Amino acid sequence: MNGKCEHQTFVGKIDVVRISDSMPMQFRAEISIQCAECKADFQFFGLPIGFHSDNPTTSLGGKYLRAPIKEIPLIGSLESILDNEELTPIEILPNGEIRAKGAVGNTEIVQKPLTMREYLGGEYAN
Ligand SMILES: [Zn+2]
Repeated sequence: MNGKCEHQTFVGKIDVVRISDSMPMQFRAEISIQCAECKADFQFFGLPIGFHSDNPTTSLGGKYLRAPIKEIPLIGSLESILDNEELTPIEILPNGEIRAKGAVGNTEIVQKPLTMREYLGGEYAN
């Protein structure tokens, strides 16, 4: 090799940080990449700098990509969630309220959907 390295092979390092003071516990991958030949660090860019629990970020200078990660549930645990889900037939009333089908009176209301007017607040609030 003469002159400038053409960066043809790379080595990567992945550390996984366990954020144990969050419930449920969160995990973050910290990834760095170097040229295997000249050892130049490669920079991640195009993401915000710092830490965020829900979105990828980079370290100051971009040497590390910090990406939140979580376990992919096994198919068996997804099936058990579906099996345990309550199946309550519902009806939607003309005023937008949702309640268990056949229920009478206000005490049986399951859920009232959030409307745009309520969500926006501000000038649209009462
Ligand atoms: Zn190189």
